[in-house]
Amino acid sequence: MRVILLGPPGAGKGTQAALLAETARIPHISTGGILRQAVSKLTPLGKQAKQFLDAGELVPDDLVVQLVEARLQQPDARKGWILDGFPRNIPQAEVLHTLLEAIAQPYDYAIDFTVPDDELVRRMLGRGRGDDTEAVIHRRLEVYREQTEPLLDYYRSRQTLLAIDGNQPMKAVTTALFEALQLSAAA
Ligand code: ADP
Repeated sequence: MRVILLGPPGAGKGTQAALLAETARIPHISTGGILRQAVSKLTPLGKQAKQFLDAGELVPDDLVVQLVEARLQQPDARKGWILDGFPRNIPQAEVLHTLLEAIAQPYDYAIDFTVPDDELVRRMLGRGRGDDTEAVIHRRLEVYREQTEPLLDYYRSRQTLLAIDGNQPMKAVTTALFEALQLSAAA
């Protein structure tokens, strides 16, 4: 299975991705997670990415594209993957499309988790990550509307978009997700 998780920050992509990865036994590839780890380890990538993460802006495409390209070509990604946080704009989606054709790994679905803004803000404030301050949250939501939300039409027009109601208890979201993917037995 190869799936792309879409949806605004705070929608629960990471939580659902982890459950899905465990059940389907495929890697969960979170660009935000990889970037945050790079920042905390002070790697060259982390040093370049830090200012963007802290401000709630997208990290430049060339950096993120390089890391996704490398990750998707690791041996464990051959049997499938869950992409969480990538693509985040149309240029990234186009690069991904070309890359997946080149490595003969077509994706199955793009999945959108829908959650109203006030609930997103509530969840992110509760999470309290370094970039979960009120001002940065506001900017991340703005960036989402401007740059990431257009991807919904991109995938809808390719008839590969699945929408899941993310505004329900975590377990109910998992059940809806697994049903949509025709996966049996959420643990
Ligand atoms: P959330 O979806 O909850 O905002 P993520 O962990 O997915 O959290 O992303 C956190 C931050 O990582 C983003 O605000 C952005 O700075 C950076 N980031 C993650 N993925 C990408 C990407 N595909 N392109 C550019 N920046 C990214």
